[in-house]
Amino acid sequence: MNPAVWVARHGRLRPNEPALAEGERVHATWAEFAARVAAAAGGFDLEPGNRVAIVMHNRPEYLEAMFAAWHAGLVVVPVNARLHRDEIAFILEDSGTSAVVTDPEHVEDIDASAIIVTGTQWDRLVAADPAPLMDRKPDDPAWLFYTSGTTGRPKGATLTNRNLLMMALSYYADIDSISPRDSVLHAAPLSHGSGLYGLPHIARGAVSVIGDDIALARRWPGMSLFAAPTMVKRFDADPGPGLKTIIYGGAPMYLADLEKALGLFGPRLAQIYGQGETPMTITALSKQDHADGDPARLQSVGTARTDVEVRVVDGEILVRGDVVMAGYWNQPEATAETLKDGWLHTGDLGSFDDHGYLTLHDRSKDLIISGGMNIYPREVEEALLHHAGVKAVAVIGKPDEEWGERVVAFVVPDGDAPAVEELDQICLDRIARYKRPKDYRFVDELPTNNYGKVVKRQLRDL
Ligand code: AMP
Repeated sequence: MNPAVWVARHGRLRPNEPALAEGERVHATWAEFAARVAAAAGGFDLEPGNRVAIVMHNRPEYLEAMFAAWHAGLVVVPVNARLHRDEIAFILEDSGTSAVVTDPEHVEDIDASAIIVTGTQWDRLVAADPAPLMDRKPDDPAWLFYTSGTTGRPKGATLTNRNLLMMALSYYADIDSISPRDSVLHAAPLSHGSGLYGLPHIARGAVSVIGDDIALARRWPGMSLFAAPTMVKRFDADPGPGLKTIIYGGAPMYLADLEKALGLFGPRLAQIYGQGETPMTITALSKQDHADGDPARLQSVGTARTDVEVRVVDGEILVRGDVVMAGYWNQPEATAETLKDGWLHTGDLGSFDDHGYLTLHDRSKDLIISGGMNIYPREVEEALLHHAGVKAVAVIGKPDEEWGERVVAFVVPDGDAPAVEELDQICLDRIARYKRPKDYRFVDELPTNNYGKVVKRQLRDL
């Protein structure tokens, strides 16, 4: 199954309906999208299985390039456009990329022999004669998803056609049904979660909208979007009934933020927990769960998705199913460490309640062990966020001669720094005494990677 089939199919089925939009403007109908994809596919002039990287900010051409590459039987390597040029170079080299599709903003950052730039060059390519749609097998790689690299060098999770198909089907099973009258807003990078969840929408013939304003739901109703918790936090107005679903995930959403979002959007929220290695699919907290509003469940990441088995072994979350990656690109050792007997070892710690709701307790490497006691940074962070003077916080363990590790909180104050005694009290009111930070550091901001995730590794060096 080649995902490019979907575009060709909707090109025939609904030729005059919008397929791609930039803000309010239609960029291409389905017939135009299908024609542009088939034409550009021939322009790559590469062999099936070759890799094509995409390095650009969100724009309609991103989706054209992605589907054109699939149409030609190529493997897509979506690269986070905010990476440093050396990091981009690493990914191009590691993936053995043959051609790069990019935009004028990134041309200078790319060192490759074959570069195709949006604008005149791309427009010429998409106007050429159509190339035939290449046959692809379920186990053929389709998308190399480079991990965000909060630890060490990024690795290319090899996602096959089957993985992407399972991800799309389980979206319909567990998140939402999608109709051709719906839309998907790409406010988050297409190289990551937003691009992945764009696929179930394209498969159903919905409109893909590039833009960062949820008010676009008035122009493109039936709108869903994938948003990192930091984005959801910034939304401050409901655009009305055109907004169908906000899917959040990828990082913890603290209860106070979730309650605020629920107040604004009600049960149009759904949470997903996944990894690049099992794209967007381990568990989900459904819209119904959000409607029920049970606080314990709202702090969980929901229940196992339809297409996977999920187990917790020695505290670590393991996943098995057809959505789990084939392995890391050209990294047999890392693959063997992560995939054992078909089970993906996520490196995340968690526990199930009696009803099958999974609660995440940070990644294993973030766990703090102090005086022999396990302390999950998340619970200390949740406690501290109850203080009105705390805008953001990250808790880590630092080596300590007496305790092994001691709890240190990096606090971004909201205005003046709150008194340490008050912060201590907030913790004493909510969590065990031994979990409260021994040390508070007030900082202007927390170090984040290009996806907005806090990089705790950097805090450990401070
Ligand atoms: P990535 O592969 O870059 O998408 O990162 C995946 C990691 O993000 C997971 O292994 C989790 O540690 C974290 N993560 C994903 N979804 C959630 C969620 N809903 N809540 C908390 N952390 C999450």
